[in-house]
Amino acid sequence: MFVNDPILLAKKLITFQSVTPEDGGSLEYVRSQLNNRKFSCNLFVENNVKNLFARWKPEKTYEKTIAFNGHVDVVHPGDPKQWKYGAFSGEIKSGRIFGRGAVDMKSAVAAFMCAASEAILEYDLKSSIVIMLTSDEEGKAEFGTRAILDWIKKNKEQINHCIVGEPTSSDKLGDTIKIGRRGSLNGTVYCIGKQGHVAYPEKAINPVEKIIEFLSKLKSYQLDSGNDFFGPSSLNISSVETNNLSSNVIPGECEAKFNVRYNDNYKASDLKNLIKNISQEFNSSSKSKIRVEYRESGDSFITKPGHLSNIMSESIKKITKLTPKLSTGGGTSDARFIQKFYPVIEFGLVGDTMHQANENTKTKDIVLLKNIYKEFIRNYDQQSLNE
Ligand SMILES: [Zn+2]
Repeated sequence: MFVNDPILLAKKLITFQSVTPEDGGSLEYVRSQLNNRKFSCNLFVENNVKNLFARWKPEKTYEKTIAFNGHVDVVHPGDPKQWKYGAFSGEIKSGRIFGRGAVDMKSAVAAFMCAASEAILEYDLKSSIVIMLTSDEEGKAEFGTRAILDWIKKNKEQINHCIVGEPTSSDKLGDTIKIGRRGSLNGTVYCIGKQGHVAYPEKAINPVEKIIEFLSKLKSYQLDSGNDFFGPSSLNISSVETNNLSSNVIPGECEAKFNVRYNDNYKASDLKNLIKNISQEFNSSSKSKIRVEYRESGDSFITKPGHLSNIMSESIKKITKLTPKLSTGGGTSDARFIQKFYPVIEFGLVGDTMHQANENTKTKDIVLLKNIYKEFIRNYDQQSLNE
């Protein structure tokens, strides 16, 4: 039997212990649920990561496909003592549901599954609905949505637009839709100096002081002041380390980490060139040996306001009476992979407690979210593809 109640379905999903990259059995469960609604389901494994691609289609032909993307994996719950109720309990108390994934993002998965189910039963849909789920989003995300997209390409599955159910709302459900994301670039700075006694600094080269000087140069560089869709790009320093335990030793090496969140004024390669120039100049003027290594986690993207965001905004307005803000703020998500193939926007719950102990959301919001997704499916179905 299909669980029609999105709150009960969310509760059930929370009880699966699906810490990345494990799905804890949740995808098998989702598959059996969707089979009940005549979705044809493909559960496949990529490097020990389970992914699910499920399609429902009308009996006759269909013109277009709307896809919902989400993840069933969660970040580690941390110290169990910090949790009032068990991290995988799905406890419902005072109108809220508690547990890891309540916000990010098992409740949204339950909401779009139930929305699709109701829309299929109640409307005479002309469009096909795809639900794609992974258990590798919270980690490196190498074998999750990316693998699903490869699978879709290989199997020539048609998709026209995609909604990602990540928590995007800020204070109230419906106040924010994400239409893009900033890019993210991680850098590690290495500086080699010369070890020595702090009493004889003239005989040593202090890599800590060099790296601090370099970091302050990096930090003071004005990247840009933002544009119509994005705020300013920003570079933030996240650590400076030496492994030095003695206060009377100047260490021989120092390492620092930074991250750049950047808008569409830059690609990762532009930033790397820019930082290369700054470090070369710094090295030659200060006789330092600074070296920077990078890990890219995706360039920025934007799905310009229009067709997709209009339909979502109208659906949100109808259900909540709120006019959502179109935002590009916050962290990265799998939308960064999807945007290479189809227009994608993100909409979901209020994200205030995600990744925290006692993660929870209002049960009322899960029902509202289901209603918004359902209204979205109805509106999407009625609009022609070219609009
Ligand atoms: Zn998430």
